Amino acid sequence: MLDTHKEIKTISVVIPVFNEQATLDELIKRCLESCDKTNRPYEIVFVDDGSSDSSAEMLNKASKEHPGKIVGCFLNRNYGQHSAIMAGFSVCQGDLIITLDADLQNPPEEIPRIVEAADKGADVIGTRRVNRQDTLFRRVASFIVNKAAQKATGVKMHDYGCMLRGYKKHIVDAMLQCEERSTFIPVLGNSFARHTVEIDVAHHERVAGDSKYSLWKLINLQFNLLTCMTTVPLRLLSVVGGIISALGMLFAAFIIVMRFIKGDDWTAQGVFTLFAVSFVLGGVQLIGMGLLGEYIGRIYTDVRARPRYFIQTVTGKRDLLAGK
Ligand code: UDP
Ligand code: MG
Repeated sequence: MLDTHKEIKTISVVIPVFNEQATLDELIKRCLESCDKTNRPYEIVFVDDGSSDSSAEMLNKASKEHPGKIVGCFLNRNYGQHSAIMAGFSVCQGDLIITLDADLQNPPEEIPRIVEAADKGADVIGTRRVNRQDTLFRRVASFIVNKAAQKATGVKMHDYGCMLRGYKKHIVDAMLQCEERSTFIPVLGNSFARHTVEIDVAHHERVAGDSKYSLWKLINLQFNLLTCMTTVPLRLLSVVGGIISALGMLFAAFIIVMRFIKGDDWTAQGVFTLFAVSFVLGGVQLIGMGLLGEYIGRIYTDVRARPRYFIQTVTGKRDLLAGK
């Protein structure tokens, strides 16, 4: 195995925060404790994704209390979890970057285990949620998404949805070079990795507040995931279209033959069958157009090339290796 491992001297933790005031104090406390155990200089970068509650003030305060250890990165508005993480990537300095959610569903106590896995040489450390605490709907959706992601990236990880993950610096640099706006970070990260591992981690129920993903945001995320991985659905569209047209032609031939055998009456009564066929065709066309729209919409956003996040201020940032 080609050994590309470089020693991990510093650690950054990136946490996107969107209206998480209820869990923030506990999160900060537990993250600090857990990072202390790694015995290396670290920074915890909290990215405030345009929260409207008091999360931003709390982060600002924490970054003043623990300068260098807690960094506040404030976006001007809500850009979404993955863009917020990207913003965090752009300000962090560690050799290993760990991401996790702010709602304490991912226990910060797992951080040292991720560091340990990275010390052994993995470029990307994926995790698998044992005993996952989410609704059946979310779990079924995840199952489908994971299968698709495994196919698209060729990396057999089982849980792309768990955001408690570690990436070495060069992977994050590669991700930052990607210009696309609709990204799904775990998939993007794996596409640049040579050595990956997967470890089992605990998963808890959300202790406070509701999921910050409305159904609409969730649908958008799934389409982001699909379109960032592959253009196969577009091809599938032509295949399905082809099959349906072929069946349609066979059906037409059948009707013509029946017309000769059974006479005029029989075909007149087939009017409703034709209706049914045209509804099916119309439906398939609309689905196809919708799918095209999803790709074109994303192409449009990428062509406009607006920044995928805008960092208004960064507080509490210090050179991680200063004084070393
Ligand atoms: N989040 C964010 N911006 C958003 C939505 C979510 O920064 O627009 C953050 C949120 O604060 C949390 C993480 O992303 O730290 C995951 O969100 P959530 O727990 O609501 O997602 P779920 O666990 O329901 O998938
Ligand atoms: Mg959550």
